[in-house]
Amino acid sequence: MTFTTLASSSLGNAALVSCGDTHILLDAGISAKRISNGLQALGIAPAQLSAVLITHTHSDHVTGLRVLAKKAGAPIYATPPACREWYGKNRCDQVQELFQPQEAGTGVQIGSLWVESFPTPHDAPGSVGYSIAGEKGRMVLCTDLGHVTREVLQVVEGCDLLVCETNHDEDWVRSGPYPYYLKQRILGDYGHLSNEAGAELAAFAVESGTKTVVLAHLSQTNNTPVRAYETVCLRLLAMDCDLEQDISLSVAPAEEPGPTLSLGKAAAAC
Ligand SMILES: [Zn+2]
Ligand SMILES: [Zn+2]
Repeated sequence: MTFTTLASSSLGNAALVSCGDTHILLDAGISAKRISNGLQALGIAPAQLSAVLITHTHSDHVTGLRVLAKKAGAPIYATPPACREWYGKNRCDQVQELFQPQEAGTGVQIGSLWVESFPTPHDAPGSVGYSIAGEKGRMVLCTDLGHVTREVLQVVEGCDLLVCETNHDEDWVRSGPYPYYLKQRILGDYGHLSNEAGAELAAFAVESGTKTVVLAHLSQTNNTPVRAYETVCLRLLAMDCDLEQDISLSVAPAEEPGPTLSLGKAAAAC
């Protein structure tokens, strides 16, 4: 089982989970062309996708969905509110037919992988994260959430690989250029996890046995990869974690594919 980000930031998100012949695309928030190119570099054609999982309908998660879905023809999993929201905005029956509404908190077998969604507190209808389990381990995609709920902790606990949101530095948001309402939205309970909040979630995961942490969905205005990495790194070092021996900590590149990480062993840190 492998995990590769194709893009990860507030501007666009897509990632691939593969296990044997099963290939699952997580979100389609960059152009279909960029997704196809990213897949091609991994030796996969869009028509080989087993499924597309959508976390929610903000444009940085679905902007390439319409074009990609027509190429891929794979089932699209999203919660019923997210399916309705997407159709309301796009009115595309050909793609709508591919949607498989899946209630938050339920699971489905896709090829060799077991996929479960969990609700995330975010300002989009039916927003979820995903837990994906194969023979070699389990990964959790946990981005776009304003705060960490008990349900989130239950899902994250004991996973092998955590994709953890570190969206912004709180001080940088407060002193930055965004208008007041947008600052309130980002910092609010239904916005995004800060570096500090992400560091707490990563620390919880590592304490429960997680070996690989990928920091994701960084703001390009209110964060830098170095700032996010250092914040989480300091938090993990404070709990006597050996970042060279025990844990792989990396930041997903914003605009280009990241390295392919294998579950079951810690991959090289960035
Ligand atoms: Zn997002
Ligand atoms: Zn969002």
